[in-house]
Amino acid sequence: MNTLRSIERILPPPPAHMVGDGFRVHNFFPGNGQIGLQRMSPFFLMDYGSKIEFPPSDTPRGVGVHPHRGFETVTIAYKGKVAHHDSAGNSGVIGEGDVQWMTAASGILHKEYHEAEWSKIGGEFQMVQLWVNLPAKHKMSKPKYQPISRNEFGRVVLPDEKGIVEVIAGNFNATHGPASSFSPIEMYNARLKKGAKVHFSFPKTYNTGFVIIEGAVTVNEKTAETDHFVLFANDGTDIYMEATRDAIVLILSGEPIHEPIVPYGPFVMNTKQEIVDAYDDWNNGKFGYLED
Ligand code: MN
Repeated sequence: MNTLRSIERILPPPPAHMVGDGFRVHNFFPGNGQIGLQRMSPFFLMDYGSKIEFPPSDTPRGVGVHPHRGFETVTIAYKGKVAHHDSAGNSGVIGEGDVQWMTAASGILHKEYHEAEWSKIGGEFQMVQLWVNLPAKHKMSKPKYQPISRNEFGRVVLPDEKGIVEVIAGNFNATHGPASSFSPIEMYNARLKKGAKVHFSFPKTYNTGFVIIEGAVTVNEKTAETDHFVLFANDGTDIYMEATRDAIVLILSGEPIHEPIVPYGPFVMNTKQEIVDAYDDWNNGKFGYLED
């Protein structure tokens, strides 16, 4: 049965902090305790880099070599370009509008920087990084890398060409997204002109949140402004959104993973022992090698 989903809360961006010297982010979850470890499962963490102007720099800003285990990092560049290298031998540039879906799983070292040529010119920078948790049975799978450029997304044009829904993962109105995931995930960008209306329906059990990247919308008749996060209650299926200004909205919905979460630093595991093992394996070089 289809019923309206109510809004649990609309969060303004929490105070920003720097990740390395290249990413100024607002951690909507789980960091500030407002939402918690499990509330958005399978999404464990969301760092939102609201729009910021970076001056030109010959040395690209970013974050140096660091490990991950037990989850996937999904990076969406809205403005600016991010370069990536990892110890599995993958590298690439996430251009404006593109997505990088990196499965750290059993363990990877990577580094994330502003792309060198972009850095020399500088400019507006805006991105989202999600940590998507993996079910226990996939935490020690082989690392994987999915670079997905914007032109590969599923694309649903709204009536009267009032906008488009880009399908990154899952499916919207029978259009599928290219990203493969280890648990059911819906991830879209809605790029809307003022007045555009769009309707979404997700299973009630799916944890669901929208990030207002640009502009403003009403969702189920409540107003949400730029840089805000809309967290939906799990009390219904349907969401009606209307753009009150030209808007870009990141739509996230996924089936929760009902397993314990033990996060520590760059690792997200199920038990404390697995965290100890992750540090041992990292210190013993089992995550491979990557030059600084
Ligand atoms: Mn990282």
